[in-house]
Amino acid sequence: MVTLFDAQYSGASVTGSQAQHRTKASAAETKATPEKQNNGESKSFAMGLFRGQINPEQVFPYPEVMSEEQRQNLEMLVEPTHKFFQVVNDAAKNDELEKVEEDTVQGLREMGAFGLQVPEELNGLGLSNTQYARMVEIVGQYDLGVGIFLGAHQSIGFKGILLFGTPAQKEKYLPTLATGEKFAAFCLTEPSSGSDASSIRTRAVLSEDGKHYILNGSKIWISNGGISEIFTVFAQTAVPTEDGGTVDKVSAFIVERGFGGVSSGPPEKKMGIKCSNTAEVYFEDVKIPVENILGEPGDGFKVAMNILNNGRFGMGAALSGTMKGLIQTAVSHLKMIPGSCVVGLVRICFLHHVMQTSYFFYALNLF
Ligand SMILES: Cc1cc2nc3c(=O)[nH]c(=O)nc-3n(C[C@H](O)[C@H](O)[C@H](O)COP(=O)(O)OP(=O)(O)OC[C@H]3O[C@@H](n4cnc5c(N)ncnc54)[C@H](O)[C@@H]3O)c2cc1C
Repeated sequence: MVTLFDAQYSGASVTGSQAQHRTKASAAETKATPEKQNNGESKSFAMGLFRGQINPEQVFPYPEVMSEEQRQNLEMLVEPTHKFFQVVNDAAKNDELEKVEEDTVQGLREMGAFGLQVPEELNGLGLSNTQYARMVEIVGQYDLGVGIFLGAHQSIGFKGILLFGTPAQKEKYLPTLATGEKFAAFCLTEPSSGSDASSIRTRAVLSEDGKHYILNGSKIWISNGGISEIFTVFAQTAVPTEDGGTVDKVSAFIVERGFGGVSSGPPEKKMGIKCSNTAEVYFEDVKIPVENILGEPGDGFKVAMNILNNGRFGMGAALSGTMKGLIQTAVSHLKMIPGSCVVGLVRICFLHHVMQTSYFFYALNLF
């Protein structure tokens, strides 16, 4: 048996999979010494709480969703990622500079962090949702700003290409996005349109020769908006109806900064996650080739909601990592002041665990 703090919060090097290994070891131990159970050592979860001991088998129900190979691959990534964030990344410096330091960006490129779920044949690591969630949790533990930078790029920025892209669109865009040579952003929000996303005013009009859409409008609060080359942009388009007329519907487009007519504002001043870039993005007579539409014309709202639903577990994972880091700090402080705050801390650990389990199950049920 190990205590909850030992298993989950006593140090960065304790990982979920290690906890599982401990679980297995602990289960094996229990099997090897059945007399222990007969000697009154109850396996009851509630009883354990009173003794200050928790059987990890009962509190780490990470679903067994990975094959042995996937588990080994994940284990190979976990420790180097912890080391990277402990040794190379400097969260305070990033915060002060209000951008991610170049050394960190280069290191992330070398680790493959910009294409975690891109298929291997397109330069990515090909991770599953569960593997992705574990990696993002580590990033959130050390630097949530870097988490937003990476998440805006792959959880939403180019997620539409992964989910809805044609083979040609995937081949063209994903390889350089996966290596971090280029960054991506997701452009939905406008000055007059936030939660009510279908009310956007940015408009794309089909050219007379039918070869391009001409895009005009502006977006606000776009993560990576000032540093991206590739944008997933949502705009109103006139979609033909059966009676020969047209109706306005949102369509989704892949837009390159290189198309011309794309510009961005200065980074917004934020109270936190300062190193993640947030900017306005403007589109002025941008010529988008018709083959750059994502999904069918008029399907943009569905595309946007699918991307957001799909990217949502990444946010949960990053914030779970942040909570975990804060709990670790609190635990080390608590060791110096024995006896105080234990009940409150146990409650926080419990809530964190519920949250962590929720997004792992959410991640599992996607696709
Ligand atoms: C740091 C940061 C990064 C961002 N990055 C991106 C990005 O990369 N791409 C992007 O497109 N956008 C981005 N956004 C914008 C973000 O997605 C929007 O803020 C969000 O869609 C909410 O819109 P809003 O802020 O206009 O709030 P509003 O829609 O005005 O909502 C304000 C409040 O009213 C509530 N509310 C709204 N409608 C209703 C209703 N019908 N009934 C009851 N309550 C309601 C909301 O829940 C909320 O609490 C970012 C924002 C921030 C702060």
